Amino acid sequence: MERYRIGLIPGPVRIPEEIKRIWLNDYASPDIEDEFFTLYHEDQILIRRLLNTKNDIIITLGEAMSVLWAALKSTLKQGDRMLAVSSGLFGDGFAEMSRAFGVNAEVCSFPYDEIPDPEKVREHALKFRPKVITAVHCETPSGTLTTCLHEIGKIAREVDALFVVDFVSSAGGAFLDVDYYNIDIGLLGSQKVLSLPPSLSISSISERAWEIIEKVKYSGYEAYSGWKNVPSEHLTPYTHDWNAVKALNISLNMILSEGLENVFKRHENTAKLCRSLGREIGLKLYPKSEDICSPTVTAFYVPEKFTWPEFDSRLREKGLAVGGNYGILSGKVFRIGHMGSQADCELISEAMNIIRELC
Ligand SMILES: *Cc1c(COP(=O)(O)O)cnc(C)c1O
Repeated sequence: MERYRIGLIPGPVRIPEEIKRIWLNDYASPDIEDEFFTLYHEDQILIRRLLNTKNDIIITLGEAMSVLWAALKSTLKQGDRMLAVSSGLFGDGFAEMSRAFGVNAEVCSFPYDEIPDPEKVREHALKFRPKVITAVHCETPSGTLTTCLHEIGKIAREVDALFVVDFVSSAGGAFLDVDYYNIDIGLLGSQKVLSLPPSLSISSISERAWEIIEKVKYSGYEAYSGWKNVPSEHLTPYTHDWNAVKALNISLNMILSEGLENVFKRHENTAKLCRSLGREIGLKLYPKSEDICSPTVTAFYVPEKFTWPEFDSRLREKGLAVGGNYGILSGKVFRIGHMGSQADCELISEAMNIIRELC
């Protein structure tokens, strides 16, 4: 199936032509060519700029879920305590994934249409004393942005826990400062703001995190060990994907040459337009207030006169594809993904005109 005429799925997003063309190249073996490791190292430096960090950056195969697993399995063992700060499906997911391998996980839980309250997180963390605290920057299913990562990061330091953050659908589209927020492990995928196929995952890893990783000694396909010294040792734990690493380089250069501030503004403007046109049409925003809405994705309630499958198929008849939802939001809330290549006011206007005709 080809791309949608008006595609606003919140990932994978549309891949720009400059990036698509990379897959016409037939690269040599990334295992043995110095040129590959130079490119990998260049990507690491660009990602540090994107994330505002001096921490190590590793670039691995598999989309974002592979590094969510890597972060948990590389830092937690059976019986360890972890606290998942959650106001959404991905926040809850961290706890469920940890329990699956015997971790003692608790959830510091908030309604899905709100964001976490740091005071409650502090109370819970002081009582539970977790080894790892997880949080999610943009809860893509709810369309919210957790704006208090700095406060949660401080709490993690207070209780001497590692701070693991999923910024899969926000990094590059919303302000993020990994070092200021004290993020020990930051997680990113390629198919959201970076506008690449779902083939790469990226982690930022602090010295504190490496110390724990070296103690836990997890080994497995997605394990972090083996990735620490890739550019200097010229060795990766498995054969890398040269096309994808090159495409990542182009995507990062596109973002950084537009200027991070300008890219954030483009996302914010698109989100604002989406919310204001939605209000005009009579759509009801899912998040409780506008100030917690993510600049990368907007979640609205499905209009009352349609079921989600009806609404979806009517939109698709007109060439528009938006995102449905999962879990308790399934059938109730739909999402407009305006991240990366889709952070485009014209695209949003076109989409909203189609929705207007139906509502
Ligand atoms: C997209 C996304 C992921 C990765 O999940 P997939 O659905 O497998 O792409 C992880 N966390 C968040 C917040 C995401 O938006």
